Amino acid sequence: MTNIKLFNLQIELNDICNLECLHCYQVRAKVKEELDIDIIINQLEDFKKITNYDKFFFRLSGGEVTLRKDLFKIIRKIKDLGHYVEVITNGVLLDIDYVFALKVSGTDLVQVSLDGSNKKVHDYIRGKGNFNKAINGIKNLIKANLPIEIKFTIINNVNVNDIYDMFNLCHKLGVKYISIGRFIFAGNGAKFLKEGNLIGNDLKNVFYKIIEMGKEFPDLNIRIRDQLIRIVNELKEIEIPKNINTNQKPYMGINYLAFDTYGNVYADRQMDLIIGNIHKQSLSSIWLENEELNKFRNSIKYLKGKCLNCNLKEICLGGNKTASYSLTGDPFEPDPGCWL
Ligand code: SF4
Repeated sequence: MTNIKLFNLQIELNDICNLECLHCYQVRAKVKEELDIDIIINQLEDFKKITNYDKFFFRLSGGEVTLRKDLFKIIRKIKDLGHYVEVITNGVLLDIDYVFALKVSGTDLVQVSLDGSNKKVHDYIRGKGNFNKAINGIKNLIKANLPIEIKFTIINNVNVNDIYDMFNLCHKLGVKYISIGRFIFAGNGAKFLKEGNLIGNDLKNVFYKIIEMGKEFPDLNIRIRDQLIRIVNELKEIEIPKNINTNQKPYMGINYLAFDTYGNVYADRQMDLIIGNIHKQSLSSIWLENEELNKFRNSIKYLKGKCLNCNLKEICLGGNKTASYSLTGDPFEPDPGCWL
């Protein structure tokens, strides 16, 4: 699957969640809204014609997507069309029967969120008892031999000192993939974790720590999902081992769209900037006509402030636009995490 060129569709199939995580970029509406996947599927033939993509990677999330009763049916429908499916979950409902049913339905990958290597850290963010439940879910996925990726969100003052132990835990569990993202100041996160942002040198230190510590776990594939990491590649101040992926490519307006349960469309789901609605516009018209998407495709032209004269702007394209948007209200302002 890794060599196939896929267009990513991140889709929130339901709005309801069984947890109330402190760092969630959403604020839960606590309603039982569900999105009809056919609204998207029925438009894919037209959408293929205007993009160079034949295959789509459906990244199914919520709310908590495992609460959706017809999830297996939806997965089978997507698989019958020849596309790929990732289920994005907090992992707490993954008992062994559920995991085997996920496997039988054709799920290609399960992403489980784990934000700490122990109860104290993870449960502080995600609620009491949820570390043990998520670990149990991960063990069940491994038993079922279903590919799994851990998603670890790094939050200032909360889990920045837990990186090594997270890698160690993955190693002990037999998990081969971990992706690491930066806390985004939005939704619940903006309400409950006011000190959660990694700014300037704090972010640099985290990136360098990941690289240093990651060297000790050559069997663990560590992906840093942040466009600013590209400058670390370029600056060459530290040797980056093969198991650490620092090549985060631009995706907004290129090979990614996100949808919430209400049909709202986003260039990045964590960026609270609605660019259309599939109940009112076709996917193709949003893709072709939306001005924000066009700006993201040509972002170098729209950079502001210190990025304008920076000699790394061709490399990082102004850094993580979602971080810029969440802290300044403008995705083209310099990434507040940039230490240069
Ligand atoms: S100043 Fe802007 S363009 Fe330069 S490295 Fe920082 S975020 Fe990237």
